[in-house]
Amino acid sequence: MAYKITEKCIGCGACAANCPVGCISQGDSRYEIDPNSCIECGTCAEVCPVGAPEPNKE
Ligand code: SF4
Ligand code: SF4
Repeated sequence: MAYKITEKCIGCGACAANCPVGCISQGDSRYEIDPNSCIECGTCAEVCPVGAPEPNKE
């Protein structure tokens, strides 16, 4: 279950700067997580100022 970044993202880049595996990149309208590389550490959710990253339950 990889994390995903929801529409709450304001594009600050903190998650990408802190992801231990570097799987977050800047997308068209928000930052995006590569689900195949995410190790589900939760760091992105911890550092995000608006709580945009969430576990992807799909
Ligand atoms: Fe990166 Fe961890 Fe967030 Fe996955 S949960 S995108 S590995 S910071
Ligand atoms: Fe978006 Fe949160 Fe990442 Fe900032 S830390 S780019 S607001 S998901």
